[in-house]
Amino acid sequence: SRRAKATSMNVQAPLNLNVDLGERSYPIAIGPGVLDDGALLARQVGGNKAAIVTNTTVAPLYLDKVAAPLRAAGREVVEIILPDGEEHKNWQSLMLVFDALLANKCDRKTTLIALGGGVIGDLTGYAAASYMRGVPFVQIPTTLLSQVDSSVGGKTGINHPLGKNMIGAFYQPRAVLADTATLSTLPARELSAGLAEVIKHGAILDAAFFDWIEANIDRLVARDPGALSHAIARSCEIKAEVVRKDEREGGLRAVLNFGHTFGHAIEAGLGYGTWLHGEAVGCGMVMAADLSRRLGLVDDATVERVRALVAAAGLPVKAPDLGIERWIELMEVDKKNEGGAIKFILLKPLGSPSISSVPPELLRATLESCVD
Ligand code: NAD
Ligand code: MG
Repeated sequence: SRRAKATSMNVQAPLNLNVDLGERSYPIAIGPGVLDDGALLARQVGGNKAAIVTNTTVAPLYLDKVAAPLRAAGREVVEIILPDGEEHKNWQSLMLVFDALLANKCDRKTTLIALGGGVIGDLTGYAAASYMRGVPFVQIPTTLLSQVDSSVGGKTGINHPLGKNMIGAFYQPRAVLADTATLSTLPARELSAGLAEVIKHGAILDAAFFDWIEANIDRLVARDPGALSHAIARSCEIKAEVVRKDEREGGLRAVLNFGHTFGHAIEAGLGYGTWLHGEAVGCGMVMAADLSRRLGLVDDATVERVRALVAAAGLPVKAPDLGIERWIELMEVDKKNEGGAIKFILLKPLGSPSISSVPPELLRATLESCVD
């Protein structure tokens, strides 16, 4: 479904994908300079008004780049600049968005544009799902994580003081515009965190893609635009295919949680924000590979490949020492909603998933060998 499409002379042609969800299908354009194509941007706004939601970090970098061509195309543009941070993915920020939309007389035809990382994307998507019972929504993801993961799949929402992402909706965007040039300003830690989800897509669903990431990890870390475009496009294709088969998380979509059971325990155990989500997932994938080996599903060499690739992506491979009992408690909390034993996403072999509970002594052995 991928095809190159020439746009304008000075813009490198983006990679174009389509997320196939029937009447909720939408295109994704990926590449360096996607945002330089003002006509492409303007085409995403059907009505005469757009509201761009962004934050105090991204606004000085990219807000004018998005707003100017829309204004030039005759659209009225409302700018909504929120404070930066996961701690602001909350009800108060959502109300600030609604306040601005209502004060500016935005109607059902106003397009909401999310310009930023996953925090802005999730919050803006939820605002779009609920404002006047649903308005058009466009994603302009500016972190690697949001370009390869959160902008695809239609999960939107905010945090509640008692739980992350507890309030939300499934709501698909009209389009996703992923300009890899925006990644040039991303802090290195955030780039590595995004690479964790890229590696995850290969490890769990596409061994050939895993091979490609291994061969190109240095180019990816160096932000080579061609390598990044390919990694983002293949990640989006893999995630979109899972979402197409299981839009509302009936079962299959759970494979995207590879590395996340261990990762969530790290995030919660150290306190959210100590390790980035992607850092915890990187280490969690090494642990899940180790556990897969103990179950006889993969060999030593596979575990070593996962470990080496996670390390080469600039991610931690040694788990924090939370104490074995605390580790197990945290993983049980993570899974409590599903009832019964902890289910792990395992490799069987590299490139394909297997979901199962595991003997407690093998889990303990993994924890003992992976903890620093
Ligand atoms: P983020 O949105 O907090 O962005 C990380 C940091 O980078 C922020 O400080 C941000 O302001 C800054 N930033 C963004 N773009 C930049 C750029 N181009 N240059 C410089 N700085 C830039 O974090 P994230 O990792 O993008 O997203 C994490 C969020 O995504 C979490 O809230 C998570 O729950 C959510 N998420 C959602 C899904 C989903 O399916 N909806 C999937 C995964 C994660
Ligand atoms: Mg994740």
